Amino acid sequence: MTRAWNFSAGPATLPVEVLQQAREELLDWRGIGASIMEVSHRGKAFSGVIAAAEADLRDLLAIPENYRVLFLQGGQTLQFAQVPMNLLAGRSADYLITGTWSQKAYKEAAKVGKARLVASTEDNGHFTRLPEPGELRFDRDAAYFHLCTNETIHGVEAHEDYEARLFDALSAAAPGVPLVSDMSSHILSRPLAVRRYGLISAGAQKNIGPSGLTLVIVRDDLLGRAAAGTPTILDYRNQADNDSMLNTPSTFAIYVAGLVFKWLKARGGLAAVAAVNREKARRLYAAIDGSGGFYRSEVDVACRSIMNVPFRLPVPELEARFVQASEAAGFIGLKGHKSVGGIRASLYNAVPLEAVEALLRFMDEFRAANA
Ligand code: PMP
Repeated sequence: MTRAWNFSAGPATLPVEVLQQAREELLDWRGIGASIMEVSHRGKAFSGVIAAAEADLRDLLAIPENYRVLFLQGGQTLQFAQVPMNLLAGRSADYLITGTWSQKAYKEAAKVGKARLVASTEDNGHFTRLPEPGELRFDRDAAYFHLCTNETIHGVEAHEDYEARLFDALSAAAPGVPLVSDMSSHILSRPLAVRRYGLISAGAQKNIGPSGLTLVIVRDDLLGRAAAGTPTILDYRNQADNDSMLNTPSTFAIYVAGLVFKWLKARGGLAAVAAVNREKARRLYAAIDGSGGFYRSEVDVACRSIMNVPFRLPVPELEARFVQASEAAGFIGLKGHKSVGGIRASLYNAVPLEAVEALLRFMDEFRAANA
């Protein structure tokens, strides 16, 4: 049995050590005579699992006390609706569109209530940049300001310096308006100043664990604002009051996420993990930029994603051949999203540097044979 070099955008590769531990504990979790997914979510075993997962996540992200951590379901797509249901409170929210996911978030919010488009960076179907925060016109009365800090399909990321500038610009122009971000594809890839956000959410299936789990980190003053008529289970307040166990949560996914959090801590935490992530991305972008134009990144250097690296080849036929040859060579998940085509390598935490080295060798060989 060999594991392929897996660059899938999500569901994505998980750390081998995590899979091995899950396998070891699958039939008998620590002497209880059953796996953790076969016992009550209200029993002692699972209560310990979810409490440890939350504690470890709080450690990793240094989540302040006045934030609640919710382990929900429905994917990030449900958050596109649940956020406005809970936070609009009859007002309008500001949306920044920098790619497919923030665009979907905006459209969904506009179904739920009032959403205002602050800016879109779309250029003929392409998204390659982020607007300068100082140039955005914020609504002082907005219920929140929404963005997606890592656009998985287009590979556009708001890095730490951008987040800081956006937070400062928003605080100056619209004091008290909370920032809300979809961080599905880069949460836990580096340290994060949680205090800049009112709400952070993420589908689990990239850097957290199995799909079926959705993480929400919400400042506690934002709870209890859900519109009348919001279904019980979609009101963050109810989930917070019930420790994410208003109903049966995704117990197995939470258990695996907990193993991932322990794995991240064992690797030295997010600063250490970020250093490896930066190195993986640096090498891949250097190979793209140094390919004499054979491989091409369309994204502004300042906002190139560390986690998702989309790139092009000279013609679509070559891209198709690249995907085919990569699969024959034992790689998984390099095909770009169907809406944009091209190639995409996702470099989540569980992708080792050796996988990137193998990819670079393959890219060199492919170029030599096809340029
Ligand atoms: N937002 C981002 C940034 C994503 O990458 C994805 C999934 N690729 C989604 C939202 C949709 O997430 P889900 O499938 O969990 O609903």
